[in-house]
This record gives sequence, structure tokens and C-alpha cells, in this order.
Amino acid sequence: MNKVVQTDIAIIGGGIAGLWLLNRLRQAGLSVILLESGSLGGGQTHKAQGIIHGGMKYALHGQNNSAAQAIANMPSIWKDCLQGIGEIDLSNVPVLSNQQYLWSTGSLTSKVAGFLANLALKSHTESLSKNNFPDIFKHPQFQGQVYSLDETVIDVYALLRELMMPNQDIIFKIDPMEENQLEFDDNDRLVSLEIHAAPMQTVQVNAKKYIFTAGGGNELILKKLKHHTLAAQRRPLHMVIVKHDLEYPLYAHCLGLGATPRLTITTHKAHDGKSIWYLGGQIAEEGIKLSAEEQTQVAKKELKELFPWLDFSNAEFASFYVDRAENSQPNGHRPDSCYLQEIENMIVAWPTKLAFAPLLAAEIMQCLVNNNIEPCIADLRELRAWPIPALAKPIWDKLLT
Ligand SMILES: Cc1cc2nc3c(=O)[nH]c(=O)nc-3n(C[C@H](O)[C@H](O)[C@H](O)COP(=O)(O)OP(=O)(O)OC[C@H]3O[C@@H](n4cnc5c(N)ncnc54)[C@H](O)[C@@H]3O)c2cc1C
Repeated sequence: MNKVVQTDIAIIGGGIAGLWLLNRLRQAGLSVILLESGSLGGGQTHKAQGIIHGGMKYALHGQNNSAAQAIANMPSIWKDCLQGIGEIDLSNVPVLSNQQYLWSTGSLTSKVAGFLANLALKSHTESLSKNNFPDIFKHPQFQGQVYSLDETVIDVYALLRELMMPNQDIIFKIDPMEENQLEFDDNDRLVSLEIHAAPMQTVQVNAKKYIFTAGGGNELILKKLKHHTLAAQRRPLHMVIVKHDLEYPLYAHCLGLGATPRLTITTHKAHDGKSIWYLGGQIAEEGIKLSAEEQTQVAKKELKELFPWLDFSNAEFASFYVDRAENSQPNGHRPDSCYLQEIENMIVAWPTKLAFAPLLAAEIMQCLVNNNIEPCIADLRELRAWPIPALAKPIWDKLLT
């Protein structure tokens, strides 16, 4: 006879979306388990730059709709959590920076001023006088303007740790899932979810609701649906990591000509205490067809052009490819907000941004309320001896010595 576990909710996928939701559902008194086939955060989440966006990119697109409003609310939700007074206590998560800067090179200063006339109202943006510039921009060779944006930057590794720690008894490592472990009836209802863990353990999961927050892994379910046409998309990035001895912690977007910042830099500490500059933005979007070597050359050139007074000759460079996984959009554009779709006894969800995890969890909880899911007593005896997934290591510690 099959071994069976019973729970109100089974979450599949332990990135930010799954882990945030796990905490919220447990607080709400539901029995819940989270199943992770890799490492916690090891998909997109531990590669995130940790910026809690407040809508800067939306303003760059000239958007002021409900999506822009939704993201504008995220920084205050996160700030409460980081101060220990929000829906989840994240007071042990280090804030790397209380603001993200926005800087223009000399030639683009007037463009920034124009766009800020609109943004200033929405995003608590402040134009800085030269003596308030971050140290790196106080150099005489810097000719641009610097603004401060109300965008907190957090330590993503610590965030994942804090979301995992109190829930280790309900998080389980499973072997990578194959299509035949999921069985659907003719109406796309999930009638059987079988999970495996080596060696030779197989358990049947019986849940009232199955919530798929598996990032790119959500595609597995979509393939099996007969009636629903939910589709996923991937947007590839080629990120760059720079390890150096320069004492300039920088959290800043460099304004380019388009809507995506030319460069977005966040600063982190490697395991040996050295500084990491983590580079995203346009360089990561445009570099997807470049080899690692070519992308490194582009990054070196950008840094030389933007910071001619700094010497990166002793810096170590690495790059890696990663896909953003989301619900499909016309022309493959970035979705405006988080997304969930209820399909029979499943919910398939993507946060779109780390910053949207609280909003996604709130929307999923509303969906469960609408379903009248009453808490029951879980029976997890068959999972007692199951392994717990590890927390993903910061990507720079994986790629650089
Ligand atoms: C380079 C980069 C930088 C970013 N920077 C920021 C930022 O600064 N700010 C911001 O707000 N957003 C940022 N984002 C976006 C943000 O990281 C993602 O939107 C978010 O992490 C997605 O979380 P997730 O939980 O949906 O997916 P993931 O983090 O990908 O987690 C999915 C998990 O599901 C697991 N899984 C997959 N298939 C299965 C299966 N069949 N069974 C069990 N488990 C499974 C995976 O192993 C993984 O752990 C960035 C994204 C990237 C790629």
C-alpha cells in the first residue's frame, strides 16, 4: 500500500514565493508542507540583487497604473518586516543599504531631471547635493548628478535563512520531479502527487490545495494540462560578478538611454570578506548571446568608462546565465505584477519580483479564503525521516574562489 501524508496545503518550490507563503500560511493556522527539489532559493532567488523596488522602472516606462501603485507599496511592507513589526519578523536580515542611488553620466543629466519631475512625487526620490554623494561619486572626474531612491537593498541569503529556520520541520527535499509523478483527471484536477527521495522512498501527498511556486519548474505542470492554457515565459540574463579590494560599497542604477538602467550595481561580501560588485541592468539583458569571456570584456569596458578614476586591474570577474521565469506576456515583455492562476485544486504562481512576494502571498491567501479551506490536523508521519534541502550559497561564493 502507498505511504500517504495529509496536509491542507502542499507548496512545490522553495524560492522566495514558496518560503514567504509557507510562513504566512503557517501563521494562519493551516497545515502546510513545502517540497523543494534543489536547494532553497537555488533557482532565481539567490541570484537576485536584493533590491526592494519602489517603482523606478515603471516610472522610466512612464507608467502610473495599478501595477505601479502595487510596487510602490512594497518598500513599506518590507520595511515593517525588517524592523520586526510586519507580517513576518525579518529583524535579523541585514539591510545592505537603505537606498539605491540613481546616477547619470554628465551627458544625461538633463534627461534625469525631466523624468524625476514625475517620479519624485511617487517614489520619494531626492536629488543630492555634491557633499551628500556617496564617496565614489565625490571624485573630481565625476560630472553627473546623483539621486537617492527609496529602495532598500537586503541580504537575500539571510532572508532565505530567516524564512527557512522556523519551518525546518515542514520543509522536505525531494528528487527532481518527473511528469509521471503528477496525475490529472479529465478536468485538469490533480488527483495524485507522488514524491520520491533517494534511496527508495515514495510517498503520496494528499492536500486540499497544491500550490506551485516552482519558478521555471512550473512549466512541468503546464505541459500536462488539457483544458487550461496558462503559459510561462523565460527572460534570460547574463549577470556579472566583480570581486575587488576597493572600499566603495555601491548600490546604484546608472541611467542609460532606455527604460532599463544601463547598469545596476549592488555590493555584497564574499565569504573571505572581499567586496563583490554584482552587475545587472542593460548589460545583463544585452549580454545573453555573449560568451562569458566577451561579457567580462564588456563589463570591464563599462566600469572603465563609468569610473575612470578606479583601478580594476586586480579584480576577479565571473559571469553566469540565468532565466527569469514568469507567466507569459504578449511579446515576452516583463509582467507588471505578481501572478497566480487557480486551476481546480491547484494554484500556479510567480512573484515576478522578489519584492512582490508579500503581495503574491496575500493574493494566494485570499484565494484560499474564497475556497473555504478549513484547517485540519496534518499527518506527516511518513515524512519523518526525509531529508531537508540545503540553503543555496551566494552565487559569488560558488563562482569565485
Ligand atoms: C539575476 C536576477 C536578479 C534579480 N534581482 C531582483 C531584485 O533585485 N529585486 C527583485 O525584487 N527581484 C529580483 N529578481 C527577480 C526575483 O529574483 C524572482 O522574481 C524571484 O526570486 C522568483 O522567485 P520564485 O520563488 O518564483 O522562483 P525561484 O527562486 O526560481 O524558486 C523556485 C524553486 O522551485 C524549485 N523547483 C523547481 N521545480 C521544482 C519541482 N518540480 N519540485 C520541487 N521544487 C521545484 C527550484 O529548485 C527553486 O528552488 C531578480 C531575478 C534575477 C534572475
